[in-house]
Amino acid sequence: MEKKEDKLKDFLKSNNSNANSNTNSNNTNFQDNNPNNLQGRIKVDKIVADSNFTNMSMEDLPFSMFYPIGTKLFVRPLKTKEIESFSVVNENNEFDVSLKLAEVLEHAVELHFPDGSIKSGHYLFAGDKRTVLVYLSGLTIKNGPKLGILSKCTKTSCNTDLFIDLYPKNYIYPKPNEKILKYFDLSSRKFIFPLKNGDRVVMSPPTVLEEKVIQSYIFQQALSKKDVNIAFLEYYGWLNDREDITIDDCKQAEFDFSVMNKEKFMFIYDTIKMMNFEVTEVFTVCPKCSTEVSEPYRFPNGARNLFIIPNAFDEFIA
Ligand SMILES: [Zn+2]
Repeated sequence: MEKKEDKLKDFLKSNNSNANSNTNSNNTNFQDNNPNNLQGRIKVDKIVADSNFTNMSMEDLPFSMFYPIGTKLFVRPLKTKEIESFSVVNENNEFDVSLKLAEVLEHAVELHFPDGSIKSGHYLFAGDKRTVLVYLSGLTIKNGPKLGILSKCTKTSCNTDLFIDLYPKNYIYPKPNEKILKYFDLSSRKFIFPLKNGDRVVMSPPTVLEEKVIQSYIFQQALSKKDVNIAFLEYYGWLNDREDITIDDCKQAEFDFSVMNKEKFMFIYDTIKMMNFEVTEVFTVCPKCSTEVSEPYRFPNGARNLFIIPNAFDEFIA
């Protein structure tokens, strides 16, 4: 948690200095992140039917338990225009990357819910983003190299070079904390915790859209040089109990959070640490000595190379 806060602080710092001193037109990155472009309710009115959509298994998703049973996931390869936007992504800016990826998910992913409604990939849980993106990458770059992490067998007498591809078969799924599991409500697909003081805490993971709105709220606060309660924003994604949130909702919630009773706050603070569903490691078995080798989950060469092959000349020339 602390590490992420530090990153956010660094990001806010660097963008504040950009806003103060840099009006250079090459610095388009902050423009892209301008919360005014994202402000308010972001609605998907209509998703145009596209025959390129193919079914992807829900079960592989680390947060699959939080979707209504019977939800189906459809994805399509990126179009050239969409790939182009990745050629200008600022890899050093985690939030620029995050916004671009959210854009991809909005257009190339459909969720079909059992009630018949269809929503864009904005309604994926944020923790499932990487899994879907790797899948999209594979669909988009059919003839390219596989996405994966180079590693070496950890047995010293073996030391074989290994390649761990980023597909769910190689995921190390974290074990959910037994203590919280019995509070998982099967019909709403959320955690509902009754407290001794009569309060109730409802927790479910943030969606891609919620994450995006919360980040936009942070940008907006940073632009107007206001303090941002980053701890709260970490929690809000999990505490929000509505489908669509706006920047105004964030403001209101930040206030509510500041006047929340202490017991409830401490409960949330402790419980959120147990909400451990994100896949952070991948593994493979060494073909020579059968040792299991794991690596931290990361995109090799950053997010750009999800959709743009490095050395495309060599890859594609006949
Ligand atoms: Zn080995």
